Amino acid sequence: MNRYPVIEIPFNYRATCWFCGEPKYKTINFPKYSSEENLLTHRSICLPSCNECATIVKRSAFSSLYAYRDAIKKALTVKHQKILSIGSNWTKQELEESELEGSAFEGFKRSAWPMFEMMQGRINYQGWQLVVANETLTIEQEHDSFDFDGVTYVSLDDAVTHAVQTFHLDEQLFTRVLSVIGKNKFGHAIRLCRLYPALTSKNREAVFLDILQSIGL
Ligand SMILES: [Zn+2]
Repeated sequence: MNRYPVIEIPFNYRATCWFCGEPKYKTINFPKYSSEENLLTHRSICLPSCNECATIVKRSAFSSLYAYRDAIKKALTVKHQKILSIGSNWTKQELEESELEGSAFEGFKRSAWPMFEMMQGRINYQGWQLVVANETLTIEQEHDSFDFDGVTYVSLDDAVTHAVQTFHLDEQLFTRVLSVIGKNKFGHAIRLCRLYPALTSKNREAVFLDILQSIGL
């Protein structure tokens, strides 16, 4: 269900994930929840995504599409670290000329480099220019700093990461609560979520609704 206008998609990219260049699986809403619209530094949009990019990041409350893209790339890097390490441990030539024998290694030689190149391509992929309704979408990457507790974080997302680690918050719960009550009540969102450090996907939704109720929303 598209809540927002879909970005323009050049013909050559009509079946492509904007984040990583893999085949598109569906069109996603950004932001994920409409409550997050007020955290965004640009208009809300819909854009094509592969299944992995659409699901790999569990938290929300990103301040811009670029921040979300960064989180996707970071998560892909962590998940596929083994494949990516092939490029750090070998060069293509070394791999071809390697004299290591054995059928397991032959299989590795044949498949390893293409796997590495594909993953490297996905991580480095830059998408295409964002145009919505004939207007180029400009996303500020700087001037996005966020102050909390006397510390200036590079971005709201950095502050979120810090808070989640420091206060042992459930990341998905915290980011949803934050998007509803607003970044000006960052500390309040922390206090509300500290009470629920370990949630399952089953009870997270119920806790989220409890919290909304407790603050009269
Ligand atoms: Zn993708």
